[in-house]
Amino acid sequence: MVAVSGNCQGEGACAPSHPIWHSPGQIHVPLGSESPHQPSPLPQPADTPATAYLDCIANVVTSQGLPAQCPGYFVTGTCKNGHRFAKELHCGREWCPVCGQDDSVAHLRRYARWLPKAQQLATIGQLVFTIPQSKRRCYRFKDTLNLLTKRVTCGDKSKRIPGMLREMGFERGFSRWHWFGDTPGKWNPHLNVLIECGYLSKKKLKAIKRQYAAILKVPGAVVYYNYTTEPAKMVHTLKYVLRSTFLDYRWDERMASQLYNFRNVRNWGTWETPHVWEHFQGQAHFEAIASLETGHCPTCEEPLEWGKAHSISWLQIYKMAGIAEPVGAGYWSIVETERMKVEGGDRPCLLERMF
Ligand SMILES: [Zn+2]
Ligand SMILES: [Zn+2]
Repeated sequence: MVAVSGNCQGEGACAPSHPIWHSPGQIHVPLGSESPHQPSPLPQPADTPATAYLDCIANVVTSQGLPAQCPGYFVTGTCKNGHRFAKELHCGREWCPVCGQDDSVAHLRRYARWLPKAQQLATIGQLVFTIPQSKRRCYRFKDTLNLLTKRVTCGDKSKRIPGMLREMGFERGFSRWHWFGDTPGKWNPHLNVLIECGYLSKKKLKAIKRQYAAILKVPGAVVYYNYTTEPAKMVHTLKYVLRSTFLDYRWDERMASQLYNFRNVRNWGTWETPHVWEHFQGQAHFEAIASLETGHCPTCEEPLEWGKAHSISWLQIYKMAGIAEPVGAGYWSIVETERMKVEGGDRPCLLERMF
């Protein structure tokens, strides 16, 4: 762990309240203790909530800030009607060689979570809020990035922080930061915001730029805007916003630590209106993934109970044996086979004991 000064030189107003930051290696658990020959689920303290446990396993990292293997584990889940699934545990770090790739499991899961909301928007407008070079050093802290996100988007009622876009009448939207731009390794945070909006008049865009500059306390700020009504382009925009930009933690190790557990994806407003467009390819596929992401069985919609974590090598064996069938985005449907039924007689077979 390293402590650094949280004060931004000459920018007292933007100094975060917590100057301490943590090393990227938050949890150190020895890996490789499991093998298909020696099945031993990792210890789970009785009072640890399942989600915290999953987070713990998913965040197992080496001292280099990267998982030794990603995914190293999977969990099994079942609903009350006996439908069974396996979920690969991916670290989700942007700089993970696996998770940082476009169309990786982590990328597809983010996409599947956003898609049902995006499908409620007939038009998607994309605003990109850049930060001038002179101010970027102020936005190298979790707190200042958090506060800026709130001020630009929907605010925070409990803390009486007004949100610029909400106050301007944009009732719902999403936001996500990209940390780097076209130059690899050059810290260049910019906030992508998707709103329900088509053409934006010059006057309105000017007003957005003016207010944003006032938030940053600079004379002028660059904000880009474009919009689309075509589903294929909306899909492209969504995937683009959800991609990773922090592709190597060595680009900025301090920020890699600072962004640990940073809630990057945010949305505001209510999302209960019907879908206005269909995914042009594999709608059912993404619906199943989205359902699993919310912890619900895609077959009967009942809640899934996730169990213990197991070495990923077991899942490889189940795939080869035809017991695990792909759902997508690192989820697998566990199908009952004749062989399992026999083995599962009086003494449950190994697979049975995983649920
Ligand atoms: Zn990963
Ligand atoms: Zn079910």
